[in-house]
Amino acid sequence: MTTPKYKRILLKLSGEALMGNDAYGINPQVIAEVCAEIKAVADLGVEIGVVIGGGNIFRGMAGTATGMDRATADYMGMLATVMNAMALSDAMRQAGLNARVQSALNIEQVVEPYIRGKAIRYLEEGKVVIFGAGTGNPFFTTDTAAALRGSEIGAEIVLKATKVDGIYTADPKKDATATRYDKISFNDAISQNLAVMDATAFALCRDQKLPINVFSIFKAGALKRVVCGEDEGTLVYC
Ligand code: UDP
Repeated sequence: MTTPKYKRILLKLSGEALMGNDAYGINPQVIAEVCAEIKAVADLGVEIGVVIGGGNIFRGMAGTATGMDRATADYMGMLATVMNAMALSDAMRQAGLNARVQSALNIEQVVEPYIRGKAIRYLEEGKVVIFGAGTGNPFFTTDTAAALRGSEIGAEIVLKATKVDGIYTADPKKDATATRYDKISFNDAISQNLAVMDATAFALCRDQKLPINVFSIFKAGALKRVVCGEDEGTLVYC
């Protein structure tokens, strides 16, 4: 239980993971709990890159619903992820972790820009690297940023933290007979139309042969169990 299976991981945290049951924003108790889960894995010597979402603050699609231009709304969404990245890095500092934020959009007075080589050096030094501003491009999501940064830093797996503890045959909230897959291949996930990640993110992981493990960040110890190769959530494999 204490021997990690992976040396380097990319953890995708949605904005909702910082929000808990609140309707909006960042919940200090929840963010502290998430950091404790991450620290338990960092203490095993695992190198951790984190891509953080922004849905707890702003999503591009919510902007377009009010008539806003999509690209403008998406840039606002990316800025929301930078705020989350800063909050997460501060919470990590309080938890005793050494973290650095890198942003795909240049706002150098606030956070340093994304530089791949520097990010890899931080990881080798045992620092957690939090990637903000998604891919830096509108019309994408932070799931795609996770697939991209995971590929770039040579992560062995993308761990997608959600509120649900894996991928189910149907929506478990709507269908009581829904069962969870322990593991499923990329091809089966496609043929069964399972929404693991958005299509761009999913295609990138499949092409790069980068497995994805979907699990619940709100289940105590789940992140550590995934990293130690235990059966937790759903593994999507090549
Ligand atoms: N976004 C974007 N490009 C990216 C990543 C994110 O335009 O590469 C914008 C997009 O508007 C998205 C918002 O940032 O809705 C927040 O990201 P996301 O919805 O992926 O966050 P999550 O659902 O994980 O909290």
